[in-house]
Amino acid sequence: MSSVQPILLVHGGAGNVPDCNVQNKLDGVRQAAKEGYRILKETGSVLDSVVAAVKVMEDLEGFNAGRGSVLTIDGTIEMEAQIIEGKNMNAGCVTLLSHIQYPVELARLVMEKTPHTFLGGEAAEEFAKKMGVPFVTQDFLKTKAAEKALAEFKKKGALNPTLTEIGGVGTVGCVAIDSNGHTASATSTGGINGKYRGRIGDTPLLGCGGYADDTIGTVSTTGHGESIMRYNLAQRILNAMTHGKNPQEAVDQETAAMTARVGKDAGAIVLSNKGEVGVGFTSYRMSWAYQVGDELHYGIDKGQKLVDKIS
Ligand code: ASP
Repeated sequence: MSSVQPILLVHGGAGNVPDCNVQNKLDGVRQAAKEGYRILKETGSVLDSVVAAVKVMEDLEGFNAGRGSVLTIDGTIEMEAQIIEGKNMNAGCVTLLSHIQYPVELARLVMEKTPHTFLGGEAAEEFAKKMGVPFVTQDFLKTKAAEKALAEFKKKGALNPTLTEIGGVGTVGCVAIDSNGHTASATSTGGINGKYRGRIGDTPLLGCGGYADDTIGTVSTTGHGESIMRYNLAQRILNAMTHGKNPQEAVDQETAAMTARVGKDAGAIVLSNKGEVGVGFTSYRMSWAYQVGDELHYGIDKGQKLVDKIS
């Protein structure tokens, strides 16, 4: 296979990001893209790089993953994540986690250290304990912003949590490709604000929250999970690419088609196996950033494409 320019692309969630959170979001996705790209260049490992980028955002309070996750209707935290690599389509998925600092790291351990692909709940946390991953309290993971967003949701008497209630935080995801055309995807979330306890969304589901297949490319999605999983958004985007669409056309076509067909909003980041980039969303905003060579590309509004030179 001919050499591909390595790229690492992240998103910080689709949604109604208010103006006051825009700078914070852009700073966070740029930090994650740079760190992930640094690891990609240093180790040459797409898996190490997507985990590194997602962990940066799991740590930042302004994102709906790890610390800063949104709350269930009962005020608890239930996080989920997935990771997949595109060579052999090895994957790890986790759900209903309440005490794990870095859910993406646990997803990778499920992939590499168990005969399974998906673990959830208490048993997943028992496995995490055996693996020695960092455990934290719910108080550590809960932020004032998440508590305020839940209080507002309850005040409105809303019974149907949707993306617009998230209050400016967002699920996080990353896709990467190395110089051999090897791809990977990782996605991590706290879900949607005011969800039932036990609700599982699209994020840990392969073909919905993300996917990677070196014969086509790689995707990470964000948006209204119930809609994304019913539509199989990640898989549909890759399918459009197998039918001749480039990543940008595929993401624009399939996010719009999902919204038209089943309603609500979504966004996705995509890389083809040649390293072509696609970024699209039907939500009001979605923060994203990618590094290629010494350029950092990023944006949050529709059609926005900013570029910084990295010295
Ligand atoms: N897709 C996530 C979920 O529904 C939410 C998001 O992407 O912001 O759980």
